[in-house]
Amino acid sequence: MCFYDQYQMACGDHRWGHFRQHCSKEYRTGETCGMKLVMNTIPKSEKCKLCVKIDTKRGRVYKEEDRIDRWYKEEQRGIGRSASIAASQDTIVTLLNEISDLEYQRSQYQATLR
Ligand SMILES: [Zn+2]
Repeated sequence: MCFYDQYQMACGDHRWGHFRQHCSKEYRTGETCGMKLVMNTIPKSEKCKLCVKIDTKRGRVYKEEDRIDRWYKEEQRGIGRSASIAASQDTIVTLLNEISDLEYQRSQYQATLR
């Protein structure tokens, strides 16, 4: 078991920081073993990279939904927007798939910290 800093991110996730100290078992070999122990927990004001990516994609979904709302209103006034709406709906499906992949990665990462 070796000691590392751990970052407590603004999103509530943890990330491993710098390596700090070997445990007695691995001290002689100079290698780090697979087990990580927390030396210090350092609060960080930013979110982890995964959550930043998820936020960005969620923001894009909201923007697409806004556009679709606007296009529906234009359609009601007789302006043909069905192709734009369909394309935007495809974009949303892609984004939602990407978000669920990222959420999965996030849950996998958290599982390694327990
Ligand atoms: Zn996070």
